Amino acid sequence: TLKHKINRQEVIDNALDYTIMSWSKQKGIDPFAIERAEGVYLYDYSGQKIIDFSSGLMNSNIGYGDQRVTAAVVKQMQEVAFISPSCVSKVRGDLGKKLAEICPGDLNRAFFTVCGATSNENAIKLARLYTGRHKIFTRYQSYHGATIGAISAGGDPRKIPVDAQQAPNFVHFDLPNAYRYEYGEENLLKDSVASLERQIEYEGPNTIAAILLEGESGTSGCLQYPNGYLKKVREICNKHGILLIMDEVMSGFGRTGKWFGFQNHDIIPDMIVMAKGLTCGYLPLGCVMISEKIASKYDDNVLPLGLTYSAHAVSCAAAMEVIRIYEEDNLIERAAEMGKYLESRIEDMKKIHPSIGDFRNTGLLGCLELVKNRETKEPMAPFNAKPDQMEVMNKVAAKIKGLGMYTFVRWGYIFIAPPLIITKEEMEEGLAIISEALKIADEATY
Ligand code: PLP
Repeated sequence: TLKHKINRQEVIDNALDYTIMSWSKQKGIDPFAIERAEGVYLYDYSGQKIIDFSSGLMNSNIGYGDQRVTAAVVKQMQEVAFISPSCVSKVRGDLGKKLAEICPGDLNRAFFTVCGATSNENAIKLARLYTGRHKIFTRYQSYHGATIGAISAGGDPRKIPVDAQQAPNFVHFDLPNAYRYEYGEENLLKDSVASLERQIEYEGPNTIAAILLEGESGTSGCLQYPNGYLKKVREICNKHGILLIMDEVMSGFGRTGKWFGFQNHDIIPDMIVMAKGLTCGYLPLGCVMISEKIASKYDDNVLPLGLTYSAHAVSCAAAMEVIRIYEEDNLIERAAEMGKYLESRIEDMKKIHPSIGDFRNTGLLGCLELVKNRETKEPMAPFNAKPDQMEVMNKVAAKIKGLGMYTFVRWGYIFIAPPLIITKEEMEEGLAIISEALKIADEATY
């Protein structure tokens, strides 16, 4: 309708004229303009219904518009919204206790932050304080956030434009993509562990405070750890007194079919970094879950960490309700089941779409890697593709968008990480859109 059209353009114009868009050129773009959202769907001011296949930024795990969260948030807001973080609210302790219950081992103490990046910054700071060492080992192709410390920790190409601002004392190591490694998973495990051990020796184990890894890697294209890799990393950490920090910002809270991604690998870290699915975006909140062993050092020593909005009561109330919903609606189990269903459906799609080179997923953290040829594995767009190498993928992305889907398309990757509440029918609806768009990629295969 006319009213819709006028509103939509105004919404977009104001946003583009008066605000700054993340990771994007600022003009000449045509974002979805969202009027409301419910379940797995977004509704544009144009009246278009859009299925969200990446849960926003892999954070809307319980889906949109859940009024149970609204009610919990409003209730807390009416009682007390904000108190200084040196005072305590009831919900702060309740949430800390609940998280201690969910987390394995002695990961019992929560330091609340505002997002993933601020959680990583604080985990890194604490690891250095606790160990008295300065280096942090992290993986190339990982992503840990956009603040200066977090972007320096990451190994994502988004760090390259700000390379001159890098924070010191981050050491990156490589973990090859199993799909593109020719010598089998067993050798990949052996080689990558040996190479990490050598790098630790070169750097000096006594200079290394922590190894920081994603619980399951997401932004990289869901590149997976070889079987047994994280166990080896845990052993290496134990041997040298290096802390192991798992960044569960994307892989946490059911996304991979477990509470945390690392639980697929049978290890327990020393700290867990959380955000995203902790509140599913209903409000911003991050958290560093810290082991008793580390936290107790500060029982009688001042802990030099702090944020005005640490343990914001309304954000904590949102998290409490979101966690209750994961449990009440069995969403963790559901993610595992729907992940299996997705795997089987992608197997079917592989038969008709020669452009599907690989599909990697853990539960509902999934990614298609498109290729021009299955034998040579020539990528549809290379890692860190330049704009002129994105011709086919841009068309694929435009088709997906035009058919009413929001998801991440990056280089040769299409992410499939819908809200954990997704039904089979909704999954089919989304896969049909991707299948239609893949016809464009199929034409570019040889
Ligand atoms: N860590 C991981 C693994 C992430 O995927 C992200 C965001 O995508 C972050 C940290 C950063 O989180 P935030 O954007 O909330 O700072």
